[in-house]
Amino acid sequence: MSMVSGKMQVLLQNNSVVRAMFEEGNRLAAIYGRENVYDFSLGNPNVPAPEAVNQAIRDVLREKDSVYVHGYMSNAGYPEVRRAVADSLNQRFGTAYTENNLVMTVGAAYAMNILLKTILNPGDEVIVIAPFFSEYRNYIGNYDGKTVVVKADPETFQPDPEAVGRAVTPRTRALIINTPNNPSGVVYSEETLKELNRVLTQKEKEFGTVILTISDEPYRELAYDGVRVPWIPSLIPHSCVVYSYSKALSLPGERIGWLLVPDTVPEAEDVTAAAVIANRISGAVNAPSLIQLALSRCLGEKCDVEAYDRNRKLLYNGLKDLGFTCVKPQGAFYLFVKAPDGDDAHFFEACKKYNILVVPCTSFAWPGYVRIAYCVSYDMIQRALPFFAKVAEDCGLKKS
Ligand code: PLP
Repeated sequence: MSMVSGKMQVLLQNNSVVRAMFEEGNRLAAIYGRENVYDFSLGNPNVPAPEAVNQAIRDVLREKDSVYVHGYMSNAGYPEVRRAVADSLNQRFGTAYTENNLVMTVGAAYAMNILLKTILNPGDEVIVIAPFFSEYRNYIGNYDGKTVVVKADPETFQPDPEAVGRAVTPRTRALIINTPNNPSGVVYSEETLKELNRVLTQKEKEFGTVILTISDEPYRELAYDGVRVPWIPSLIPHSCVVYSYSKALSLPGERIGWLLVPDTVPEAEDVTAAAVIANRISGAVNAPSLIQLALSRCLGEKCDVEAYDRNRKLLYNGLKDLGFTCVKPQGAFYLFVKAPDGDDAHFFEACKKYNILVVPCTSFAWPGYVRIAYCVSYDMIQRALPFFAKVAEDCGLKKS
């Protein structure tokens, strides 16, 4: 008999492709030198966190009582931190949230997990829009839910509301959306979101159920060319938001984010209270204390989005010029590129020949594409482009 449970055995066999790629990058760097490996695998921001965040950490340590700063607090997070987050959302989106609508969490991933733990019974269905962040399957599986995949429109990569409607059954508990999207870089339009709401509302009436939309928004602040990222609860009243500062403020290792349960969600108070219990009993207990307090002092800060924009333009234009077909990213920091022969595994190998690491998108439920994370240095993209040219040549692409 194995020490590892049946459920975890499956995960051992199918561990994250993105993480495996990251390890491969380290292996290649040890052999060829870091400067000769072009690792575009992981969404790990290379732009430093704003100095204001570091300063706020120092200020909190200097000004606040040490027992308070490092102690346990309410499992939902410090009330004044949640109040500060609510105020900042209210200012930006014209809403009227209070600290009671918020639970501070260990990143967006944990916020999603405690929400799924709160709402799912075994066998309940959760719709996800392909292409999607591959961990969703694991998060849903953690609570014995069933992942139901609905493909986005293959031309625009916007969700297809009618297709979502067709996938809804009486067991559908939730729909997960992610905009700006990882891996496509697409921002879902207001029109699409309104249409989604119309279809979901109709299905809720038909089945007498509530279908909770879970909006996963770690990339909200990373949008380019003046593209506006719609505020989901204003368009879909039965929605919760999971958010994190991992990307927006380049703080992925700090593990800090929140769950928002607006009052428009049925039984909002109970959902929030259950999510707070889930936060505790899942083992996190509460979000890390020091970074909560520091963040509440710099909610208006942004990382250097311009740096990602420069990378986006360099990579997108560079690859287009070489004849690759790419989705022009409106947000996040990923380029979604079509495999020239339609096989993402081939394309991955063709890139790896030149020590370029990209992620095959079969793992994002969209075979035939790869994801190139451009949260790397501008210099690395510049140095990688001549090798992408060799890949283009090997793949028989013609320059435009
Ligand atoms: N959701 C999406 C779409 C992501 O891309 C990621 C991380 O890459 C996460 C959630 C997890 O973010 P966090 O670090 O906030 O847990």
